[in-house]
Amino acid sequence: MDKDTLPFRPEHLKKFTRQHPTPFYLYDESGIRETARRLKAAFAWNQGFKEYFAVKATPNPHLLKILKSEGFGADCSSLPELLLAKQAGITGEEIMFTSNNTPAAEFQKAAELGAIINLDDIGHLPYLEEHVGLPPVLSFRYNPGALKKGNAIIGRPQESKFGVTRQQLFASYKMARNKGVSRFGVHTMVASNELNPAYFIETAEILFQLIVEISREVGISFEFANLGGGIGIPYQPKEQAVDLQQVGRGIQKAYQDIIQANKLPPLKLFMENGRLLTGPHGYLITRVQHVKRSYKTFIGVDANMANLMRPALYGAYHHITAPGKADLDAPKVLVDVAGSLCENSDKFAINRPLPPLEPGDLLVIHDVGAHGHSMGFNYNGKLRSAELLLQENGSARQIRRAETVEDYFATLI
Ligand SMILES: *Cc1c(COP(=O)(O)O)cnc(C)c1O
Repeated sequence: MDKDTLPFRPEHLKKFTRQHPTPFYLYDESGIRETARRLKAAFAWNQGFKEYFAVKATPNPHLLKILKSEGFGADCSSLPELLLAKQAGITGEEIMFTSNNTPAAEFQKAAELGAIINLDDIGHLPYLEEHVGLPPVLSFRYNPGALKKGNAIIGRPQESKFGVTRQQLFASYKMARNKGVSRFGVHTMVASNELNPAYFIETAEILFQLIVEISREVGISFEFANLGGGIGIPYQPKEQAVDLQQVGRGIQKAYQDIIQANKLPPLKLFMENGRLLTGPHGYLITRVQHVKRSYKTFIGVDANMANLMRPALYGAYHHITAPGKADLDAPKVLVDVAGSLCENSDKFAINRPLPPLEPGDLLVIHDVGAHGHSMGFNYNGKLRSAELLLQENGSARQIRRAETVEDYFATLI
């Protein structure tokens, strides 16, 4: 798809901005459903395949409900995220609780909701037993260490705080078996925003091989393998979306060669993608406030890094379009698109060619549907924006209001 293509027309956007002041997030329901269906189709060969949407990507129950209606569960890692899943009607083993450095109260809530608990450390097993009791089903997060190269966002596995070593993994399942746990899964997640399909196939191979070895040595059988999230999206115009069919087929072959060839019982595949599902289908709508010409040209917009932190945090590229201006013949101008926070890193783009802009023009910042609004913060007294859902009938519905000054003061004594 051409990066400049939008799921709404400029005149519709104008209409939305008359009803809702900028900046705001706009999520495209049709796009989210379409991606959800492509993911399901890629794994249709696996009986019991389930995607647990990573709530942290876009923690809004309205979106969780859409994903639930596509058959997805929720991957949570905090108490409020567990409550959001519950609010969206996602219950029991449709909730995956993959957390780390976990407080007892959060394990308690996860157990109370009947969630599948995924432990990040061998020491968490006695801790869980002491504070909550043993759950019927248990999974551990594996960290493959030097076996696997890391990637830019998540880093090298050996340096990562997540998961247990190979040796600890065997000991963890033995301990769980000896304590009387009877249903097992295994989890790993070593990538974030990864675009190479081979990466996911190789991760599945490592996990399947491990399942064969642990099943033999510990004498347990596995119900599921959770491959985590991390499927990337093409933020840059020159990048290609991950071919999900290719990932699905590659993992199917690994499943046949390793799980079936070793005559293990059927294994359900789980994933915990966040970015893949909502990332490309969210837009930050912002308006040009000032055009400043000093040493460079700055397009000052009414959104700032408190609304979208990724460019400042990771130097991330987000495509920007000016609907209605895109077809102008005028030559493009190299500009920085900046917010109003007192930090020079508060920029959405640096040296970006855009059509000539003036105050009042609308800009669309692309691919912000995951880890966008949810990373928002209040530094410099900045307030988080509203979230809107572009529904399948083409109308926009507010699914979170913008913060007000009263919200900002609400926690002060
Ligand atoms: C963040 C996270 C995810 C989702 O990652 P995406 O890059 O959004 O797919 C899944 N599982 C865990 C444990 C995570 O921390």
